[in-house]
Amino acid sequence: MSKKSKKKLKKKERLALLKADTRKVSKTAKKAKTKNLAARNGHAEAKPKKGKLVYFFGEGRSDGDGKMKALLGGKGANLAEMTRIGLPVPPGFTITTEVCTWFNAHGKALPKEIDAQVTESIHRIEKILGKGFGSLGNPLLFAVRSGSRDSMPGMMDTILNLGLNDETVLGLVAVSANERFAFDCYRRFIQMYGDVVMGVQTRPGEHHEPFEVVISGLKSEIFPNRPLKDISDTELDASSLRELVIRFKKLIRDRTGRDFPSDPHEQLRGAIGAVFGSWNNERAIVYRQKYNIPNEWGTAVNVQAMVFGNTGNESCSGVAFTRDPATGEKVFYGEYLINAQGEDVVAGVRTPDPVATLQEKMPKAYRELEDVRASLEKHFHEMQDFEFTVENGKLFMLQTRNGKRTGVAAVRIAVEMVKEKLIDWKQAVARVPADQLSQLLTPIFDRKAIKHAEKIATGLPAGPGAATGRIYFNANEAELESVKGKVLLVREETSPEDIRGMLAAEGILTARGGVSSHAALVARQMGKVCVCGANALHIDYQNGTLSVGGRVFRKGEFLSIDGTSGEVYAGEVKTAPSEIVQVLIGKTLDAKESPTYGNFAQLMGWADKLRRLQIRTNADQPDQVANAVAFGAQGVGLCRTEHMFFEGDRIDAMREMILADTKEAREAAVAKLLPHQRSDFAGIFRALNGLPATIRFLDPPLHEFLPQTHDQQTELARKLGVPVEKVTRRVSELHEFNPMLGFRGCRLGILYPEISAMQARAIFEAAIEVQKEGIKVKPEIMIPLVGFLKELELQAQLVRDVAAKVSKENNTRLHYLVGTMIEIPRACVTADEIAKEAEFFSFGTNDLTQTTLGMSRDDSGSFLPAYQGLEIIKQNPFATIDANGVGSLMKLAIERGRKTRPDIKLGICGEHGGEPASVNLCHNLGLTYVSCSPFRVPIARLAAAQAALAGAA
Ligand code: PEP
Ligand code: MG
Repeated sequence: MSKKSKKKLKKKERLALLKADTRKVSKTAKKAKTKNLAARNGHAEAKPKKGKLVYFFGEGRSDGDGKMKALLGGKGANLAEMTRIGLPVPPGFTITTEVCTWFNAHGKALPKEIDAQVTESIHRIEKILGKGFGSLGNPLLFAVRSGSRDSMPGMMDTILNLGLNDETVLGLVAVSANERFAFDCYRRFIQMYGDVVMGVQTRPGEHHEPFEVVISGLKSEIFPNRPLKDISDTELDASSLRELVIRFKKLIRDRTGRDFPSDPHEQLRGAIGAVFGSWNNERAIVYRQKYNIPNEWGTAVNVQAMVFGNTGNESCSGVAFTRDPATGEKVFYGEYLINAQGEDVVAGVRTPDPVATLQEKMPKAYRELEDVRASLEKHFHEMQDFEFTVENGKLFMLQTRNGKRTGVAAVRIAVEMVKEKLIDWKQAVARVPADQLSQLLTPIFDRKAIKHAEKIATGLPAGPGAATGRIYFNANEAELESVKGKVLLVREETSPEDIRGMLAAEGILTARGGVSSHAALVARQMGKVCVCGANALHIDYQNGTLSVGGRVFRKGEFLSIDGTSGEVYAGEVKTAPSEIVQVLIGKTLDAKESPTYGNFAQLMGWADKLRRLQIRTNADQPDQVANAVAFGAQGVGLCRTEHMFFEGDRIDAMREMILADTKEAREAAVAKLLPHQRSDFAGIFRALNGLPATIRFLDPPLHEFLPQTHDQQTELARKLGVPVEKVTRRVSELHEFNPMLGFRGCRLGILYPEISAMQARAIFEAAIEVQKEGIKVKPEIMIPLVGFLKELELQAQLVRDVAAKVSKENNTRLHYLVGTMIEIPRACVTADEIAKEAEFFSFGTNDLTQTTLGMSRDDSGSFLPAYQGLEIIKQNPFATIDANGVGSLMKLAIERGRKTRPDIKLGICGEHGGEPASVNLCHNLGLTYVSCSPFRVPIARLAAAQAALAGAA
């Protein structure tokens, strides 16, 4: 159809055509992308309009909506949505994430078409507000902020008060009748612009930001007799701020050789470019790697008319949550600073006041805020985290998003929102990130130990749990020291540069900043224990000390922090299990007395109704099995029998077996292990009380059992009564260059059948013993590292012969299965043959990943992080199954195995079995169960339910 004939069509028809055109261009790649995204966002996404790079919002109308997070970023989409539902949002526009992608692919240039669209939006804003961008009379100022699809708190850049220069600032003085305010805005703008756009930042060896150094210098000149830390920024009057502006500009010129730009349009172009560019700054990249956010998403840029929380005592800026993000309690939670801009609240420079106190100070604005709080939850059906500004008594909303929360809060909010009929129970299951459940299982301080602990300070509880560690005041040092042991990162306040140290630390402690400070936000998301704003602490970065109440702690000494109460203790305080663990495992707490447990149990109950996958556990000891069953495991998916050989003096019998020269000597040594193995298996069967147990025969290379140092070898030789040379020779004979591909797995049992025979006998004798006690027993014997049918046939025949013998000896019948691990590619490819003998397959994805990728599971740490950085691989394949490679081989094995044995039982027992994305893959592949470590069982239960929900959607 020609352009002309398109023009003649009515608007509705044109829209339909436009949609069809877009569809034609996008094809399948986009479809797949959109589907992923929809799954992540939980709803279908609106289609972007072709050629539209800028989306306007203001006065109740917006071009975009809340569903367009991929295109407009979370912030942009929700600004559009809040505008639509009539909340007081200052007008503005969002430049799409597609422009970010274009910008980064075109040498950091902006597409030409953008200028006209930006100009048109600015005109609309000017018309609404009756102000002019660059006007000397009533200047329009902008906030320029980043906003990606998933929030990345503080990782990218923001510029406020854009549009000010030496002339427009006078216009602001005139309209506000407040010279101090106008120059405060101006100096803030130069500071932010100088930092973000012009790169005036702390240089190596400097301890403070250069602009802060200038501020401190001026303060010392004005108040020579007062300690710097007691002089607040608000004490600088208008003429001091004028002076600051001059000094800031000089700083910029000295450091960059360029002048601060005075043309507002040039300022805006620079700011937009810098915010797009900040998508690729180091901290944003680290953050994306940690949270698996794809690099190609890009950020949007939001340009919004400024409103001012710093015009005086009738104004404030704040951050609030519709519920408490640390505990989940339904209370209005947040904080604000009078006469301040939003950045001050989040940056933690001054400790803000709790939002409840606003009721007294600004009752009208507080009432409006309470209404907004209710409307937001009603509209989004989710706990919201929002930013607001009160300008001369009038409330404005600057942002809302689904609030990050701790695991405890996530569970509580989900369960309580069902009770409040805001969501249904399936939505509740979908809401809680499965991984976050681990936070409900993390330790708290031991009640007795804490009674005797010396409390040295109290701050704000910002990330629950207990943490103890050596204190370090610098993120790099904390990261380095964390390799040696637990560390706490202690800072005045944290900033995005500290992200690596925060990741490495057990817990984070800050002296300043509130519960929405950078430290608190990031810690909450990471699930780190955090206490912030412990004002009594005085940190001396230069000397590496922390002083409090007359005591001094040096770096490297221990402190302990309780992120649930906000308390800080001297020294190392013993920790105790979480409430869930106390109820389920320790049985030291009554379920009825723990609301946290009640919420957890409710959510787990809902999850169990939805999931199709069974959850088993990887455990080798009766107590581990009992724990896993208490967490909801439906059987053992992997009992690594070799772990049992290390206990007590069993290792001696094992070593004797390895050193033996003849079959007879080996049998004699192995016979010593039999009673130990039998009693272990019996314990496991009892703990399982009728649930199935997959028990794997000996797997690791034999040298792992032998002593490596000369002293240890001498000691073993003495114990066994053999010459030390014999031990040394055997150790060197067993040395392998590539043990993971060497003499291990079923190869051991095939060459030394007496080992397998002993293990089979121990399993069957234990089964009979426990059966006699009236407990059902379901052993499943698993042969490791099989690649050839014949390997499995040999081992299976041996098992069946032993079973027949033991049955006969005891005059009883035995029910058992024999199956195999699928952990090398040949087993996947020949799964149809292997299934002739195997009654079940269990994917050993640790080895299957290692052998498929040809990457050692032990040595790949040296290059994997770099590979992730280069996006050769997106995720660590040893943590999340490599879906295209390993996943495809699994699919093939399943198809071929089922061809031979349609009802074959299928499981996974690699570490991936407790990782949510891998659980989702296993669900889609149609496995019978996933098996994971005991403490990951609840995570797997929830992830399996979420996979079922996603599959049904
Ligand atoms: C595996 O390879 O995935 C597995 C479970 O076995 P292991 O980790 O003991 O080698
Ligand atoms: Mg293995």
